[in-house]
Amino acid sequence: MAQKTIKWLGHAGFQITSEKGKIVVIDPWLTDNPLASCTAEDITKADFVLVTHDHFDHVADAARIVKATGATLVGMPETVGRLKDEEGVSDSQIVFGTGMNIGGTASSYGIEITMTQAFHSSQTGSPAGYIVKLEDGSTIYHAGDTGIFSSMKLLGDLFTIDLALLPIGGVFTMDPAQASVAAKLLGAEAVIPMHFKTFPILEQDASSFAGIIRKEAPEIEVVTLDPGQEHVVRG
Ligand SMILES: [Zn+2]
Repeated sequence: MAQKTIKWLGHAGFQITSEKGKIVVIDPWLTDNPLASCTAEDITKADFVLVTHDHFDHVADAARIVKATGATLVGMPETVGRLKDEEGVSDSQIVFGTGMNIGGTASSYGIEITMTQAFHSSQTGSPAGYIVKLEDGSTIYHAGDTGIFSSMKLLGDLFTIDLALLPIGGVFTMDPAQASVAAKLLGAEAVIPMHFKTFPILEQDASSFAGIIRKEAPEIEVVTLDPGQEHVVRG
């Protein structure tokens, strides 16, 4: 078995590779992303493409990657509907043929993807997050763009979260102080901070987040990646 890995594509974009080599891409925005580690054309293999909400910095390259790789697109019915109408994603590549909504779970290849709530805005549908449970049970939570909410505690009760991907940039999402409380509510083993630095108005690095966690929740591991950098997932 190969190692499970997660690569930060920059901003809220990640590429997870499971032990069996299945690839889950989340929120690919690579074209015109000043911090992107690669281009959309560089992603030649994917089994799932997940979009958390319909803002350009999350969805911009989703349709292109889905069409190029044959991956299944996972998202809100209204959002995947727009990508079908405007960017030509076929029904056969849309999860359940129609998209899914908060609370829904899609399962393929032994991987389970559950859509969770998020508090933000979206051009179509509602914003969301995802819990991705790999074939071996290891579980990764991508919060999407969101403010903090107390039912993160419920997600931690329902799932054993090995790794949480949390926005820390402020302005549009949680800031470092809020994200550190979120990590505790989730009971996450480890956290990768995201959605910072890309724009001048956002938090510019993860040092303040890492400092708060070190002081207030030293049991949680903070993994700070550079765009393009890969981390081996434990759990
Ligand atoms: Zn965003």
